[in-house]
Amino acid sequence: MIVNVIGAGLAGSEVAYNLGKRNVRVRLYEMRPLKMTEVHKTGYFAELVCSNSLKSEDLTNAEGLLKAEMKMMGSVTLEAAEKARVPSGKALAVDRNVFAKEVTKVIESLETVEIVRKEVVQFNPSEEIWVIATGPATSESFLSFLKEFLGEDFLFFFDAVSPIVTFESIDMSCAFWGDRFGKGKDYINCPLTKEEYEELWRALVEAEVIEMEDFDRRLLFERCQPIEEIARSGKDALRYGPLRPTGLVDPRTGEEPYAVVQLRREDKDGKFYSLVGFQTRLKWGEQKKVLKKIPCLRNAEIVRYGVMHRNIYINSPKVLDVFFRSKRHPNVFFAGQITGVEGYMESAASGIYVAYNVNRILHGLPPLKLPEETMMGALFSYIIERVEGNLKPMYANFGLLPPLHDRTRGKFERRKLLANRALKAMKEFLEANPW
Ligand SMILES: Cc1cc2nc3c(=O)[nH]c(=O)nc-3n(C[C@H](O)[C@H](O)[C@H](O)COP(=O)(O)OP(=O)(O)OC[C@H]3O[C@@H](n4cnc5c(N)ncnc54)[C@H](O)[C@@H]3O)c2cc1C
Repeated sequence: MIVNVIGAGLAGSEVAYNLGKRNVRVRLYEMRPLKMTEVHKTGYFAELVCSNSLKSEDLTNAEGLLKAEMKMMGSVTLEAAEKARVPSGKALAVDRNVFAKEVTKVIESLETVEIVRKEVVQFNPSEEIWVIATGPATSESFLSFLKEFLGEDFLFFFDAVSPIVTFESIDMSCAFWGDRFGKGKDYINCPLTKEEYEELWRALVEAEVIEMEDFDRRLLFERCQPIEEIARSGKDALRYGPLRPTGLVDPRTGEEPYAVVQLRREDKDGKFYSLVGFQTRLKWGEQKKVLKKIPCLRNAEIVRYGVMHRNIYINSPKVLDVFFRSKRHPNVFFAGQITGVEGYMESAASGIYVAYNVNRILHGLPPLKLPEETMMGALFSYIIERVEGNLKPMYANFGLLPPLHDRTRGKFERRKLLANRALKAMKEFLEANPW
């Protein structure tokens, strides 16, 4: 049986490598350099389209833990990163050309992997195994096919996300529960006095924004406005817009506050909340500063920063099962950013997960979920099983892991324990269920 992989980015390269080196026959389709995307510049596999950092290697950082787990499963991107490493403190940064050339060389050297340089515009889902790893810059023609394959409503083209924080880091002694006009208690409300509101407004208009690419600018103007743009349109714009207090009575005062920042639940377990109407292009450091101006969020732990950019991804909870397989066509898998994981390493990790289960299936074994205590297991399970409402892309973070029973320790001590627990769970899992 041939496994067809569409897209030799971070995810597709991991799928091809992890299957190819186990003697599985792979046909890897990559359209570059014959047809380029808006973001790639070379014909190499696993090209890093923006930053050359693969983020932290420290185990008390979620990205560090993710990488440690990927290494345990086997990762071509991390092997190549070792060879391409450039000095960058606790982070793993690489020379992007050396990195991409190395991934390409390793995959080209596998006799089991046939490389086909062409744009895939459609395929027959009832024949062979397919892994779709075409990423956030999937070609237009293939997108049209995916629209039909999945149904139009299941494809997203734009990421307009407000910052998401953990519930446990919200100061509930100052916030209150309630929907407008007492119609329920689903939202968390963070009241602001006039002075607090003005400080927040000032922070928003003065904060630095991320430069926008042309393709993002085109899309942005068709969509909702970033919070900082609303703020710039006038001092009261927020208080008559996303921060309006109408119908929200603070039980402590019996009155409507001057303004209110509302938070909406993001997941089934109630671990994550997003700031309503706070979609933003502010730099990440600036988002931290701005949130500190909201008294109930002074110590909020941000697990996902706000963004507004083009990003093609599918509504995975609706169309995929927990193994990232199409519910309708179980021989079609998805991997990488198109599934709703976000980030280089998250995309690569999802490729490893898909390869692991494709390999099991080819050996007549049932596919397996990774343990929930691992960063990979928790992230993939969040994408498919935990999201409430529409999926918003997510990257690795400690908030995804099941909490420790002992909550008395400090943040770093807790993270060390969570990381040790994750690595132990991954080790035991791989011993019990080797590739
Ligand atoms: C502009 C931008 C900047 C980003 N910056 C960062 C960053 O700094 N740090 C970070 O961690 N993450 C970043 N990301 C997010 C994400 O991590 C990367 O996009 C990552 O490359 C996703 O990996 P992937 O394998 O899913 O897709 P990709 O790496 O994009 O790989 C998909 C591959 O599929 C190919 N392809 C597409 N359509 C077809 C087709 N029809 N037929 C054949 N081949 C096809 C493409 O040419 C490409 O090689 C960024 C995303 C974007 C869009």
